[in-house]
Amino acid sequence: MFRETWLWASGKQRVQRFVTEGNLTRSVVQRFIAGDKAEDAISAIQQLNAKDIGGILDLLGEGVTDPVGAKQAFEDYLDSVKRIEEAGVDTTVAVKLTQLGLAFDKQPCIEYVRALATEGQAVGTSLEIDMEQSAYVTETLDVFKTLRHEFPDLRLAVQAYLRRTPVDLQELATEAPPKVRLVKGAYAEPTEVAFQKKAEIDAQYRYLIDWLFDKGADPGIASHDSALIQHAQRAAARVGGGKKSFEIQMLYGIRRDLQEQLAKEGYRVSVYVPFGCAWYPYLMRRIAERPANLRFFLRAVVRD
Ligand SMILES: Cc1cc2nc3c(=O)[nH]c(=O)nc-3n(C[C@H](O)[C@H](O)[C@H](O)COP(=O)(O)OP(=O)(O)OC[C@H]3O[C@@H](n4cnc5c(N)ncnc54)[C@H](O)[C@@H]3O)c2cc1C
Repeated sequence: MFRETWLWASGKQRVQRFVTEGNLTRSVVQRFIAGDKAEDAISAIQQLNAKDIGGILDLLGEGVTDPVGAKQAFEDYLDSVKRIEEAGVDTTVAVKLTQLGLAFDKQPCIEYVRALATEGQAVGTSLEIDMEQSAYVTETLDVFKTLRHEFPDLRLAVQAYLRRTPVDLQELATEAPPKVRLVKGAYAEPTEVAFQKKAEIDAQYRYLIDWLFDKGADPGIASHDSALIQHAQRAAARVGGGKKSFEIQMLYGIRRDLQEQLAKEGYRVSVYVPFGCAWYPYLMRRIAERPANLRFFLRAVVRD
C-alpha cells in the first residue's frame, strides 16, 4: 500500500507542484541526486572513482512528449559525453528511451541512441538502456536488438518483477549472450504483468542471477539487497568466475557503506549517478522503495 501510494504520487501533477514548489529542502534531493548540472555528476563520479567505484551517469528526465524535448535531451547527453572525455572519468551513461522520444516515434529515438553510443565509443564509454514502465518493454527490447550487434558493450536493464522477463532473456540469448543489468523493477504494475510480493520478486531475481551467470555476458547485478548480492557472489564462484567477472550496481546515496566495502574487497562496483532538474519522479520512486525515506522526507519538509 505504501509503495503503491508513492508510485501513484509520482505521476500526479498536483503532488509534483506541491513537492517541487513547496518547502522541500534541498537536503532530501541532494541525498539521491548529484546536482542540477553535468559537472555536479562528474564531480560525484570523480569522488567515486577515487574509491575504485565506477559511475553510471544519468541525465534525469523521462516521458518526453514532443520532438523538441527529445532533441534537447539528446544534445544534453552529447554534452555529458564530452565532459566525460574532458574529465577522464570512469563511467558509463544510462539513457531512458522515453526521454529520447520512444513514446511517440521510435526511429529518431534509435538514431539518438546510435549517435550517443558512437560518441561514447570514441571516448571509451558505453551506454546502458534503462527499463521503464511495462508499456515500453517490447519497444525497448526492439531498440536493444537493433543496436546490440553494432555496440557489443550496450547494456540493457531488465526487471525481475515482470513475469515475461525469463522469456525475453531466452529470446535475446538465441542471437548472442545478452549484456544485462538485472533490477527488481521500480514502477507500479498490475498483477497480470508483474509479481507483487517481495518473496516472489526475490525468487525470480535469484533465478535470473543464475541464468545470467550461465547464459549472459558480463552480468550487472543492480540491487542493495545483501541476500541477492550474496547469491550473485555464489553464482560467480559456481561458474568459476572471479570477483571481477560481474558488476554490482547501486544507486547514488543508497548503502554507501556497502558500495565501499564491496569495492575494497575487490568486487567491480558501479554507482548510478543522476543529475538534472527533472528529479521528481526519480525521487518519488526512491521514497516508495523504503518507508524510512518518507520519515527523512517529512522531517525535511517540517524543518523548512
Ligand atoms: C544501478 C541501478 C539501476 C536501476 N535501473 C532501473 C531500471 O532501469 N528500471 C527499473 O525499473 N528500476 C531500476 N532500478 C531500481 C530497482 O528496480 C529497485 O527499485 C531498487 O534497486 C530497489 O530494489 P533493491 O534491489 O535495492 O531491493 P530492496 O528490497 O528494495 O532493498 C534492499 C535494501 O536496500 C536498501 N534500500 C533499497 N532501496 C532503498 C532506498 N530507496 N533508500 C534507502 N535504502 C534503500 C534497504 O536497506 C533495503 O532493505 C535500478 C537500481 C539500481 C541499483
